[in-house]
Amino acid sequence: MNDNYRRISAAVAAAGATLVAVSKTKPVDAIREMYDAGQRDFGENKVQEMQEKAPQLPDDIRWHLIGHLQRNKVKYIASYVHMIHAVDSPELLAEIDKQAARVNRVIPVLLQVHIAEEETKFGFDAAELRAFLGDRPAYQNVRISGLMGMATFTDDMTQVRKEFHGLKLLFDELKQTYFAGDEHFMHLSMGMSSDYEIALEEGSTLVRIGTLLFGAR
Ligand SMILES: *Cc1c(COP(=O)(O)O)cnc(C)c1O
Repeated sequence: MNDNYRRISAAVAAAGATLVAVSKTKPVDAIREMYDAGQRDFGENKVQEMQEKAPQLPDDIRWHLIGHLQRNKVKYIASYVHMIHAVDSPELLAEIDKQAARVNRVIPVLLQVHIAEEETKFGFDAAELRAFLGDRPAYQNVRISGLMGMATFTDDMTQVRKEFHGLKLLFDELKQTYFAGDEHFMHLSMGMSSDYEIALEEGSTLVRIGTLLFGAR
């Protein structure tokens, strides 16, 4: 097993966070090797790829869907996905609630917040989130467990830190306002290979790391 895995998993654990090993495009052998070294949380960004890999690997792997999810694909993963990180619309939440009910589960999800400078069609902004959460349906089978964000793709680590810091402030505000007394709203998924150390300093509870663990894709 490579030294990076030991070093990074120890650093993430020391910060009290969870390491999600992002295994997209990597073969099941590479995942199994990391599993044998003790890793249990793995992240994929495509439903089809997760669908292909999961049956070939041990049942106690916790599969995180970290990429954009289309509504019509929720049904394929509802029975086993551990957490869905990038929920970016009320309609997707409703579909996850429906599909989770069908398989008698409660699925934890994170709401994706648009924090980067780049234009993207994915993610809520802060105002949308406040409006939605203030008036949200009482879901039975989907559990809003926190927020997820991706910083701007840049070498400017001051900028990255500012964005992570802003996401943490929003998390704290929403928790206090809309999730008071709800201990499940506790996760902040932020940080990748290039910026996970900053993310941990800024309060991340789930870092999603691929390249540093598995090598370049
Ligand atoms: C690929 C991916 C990652 C991991 O990126 P690395 O730079 O390889 O660590 C994290 N989050 C999401 C949403 C991804 O798609």
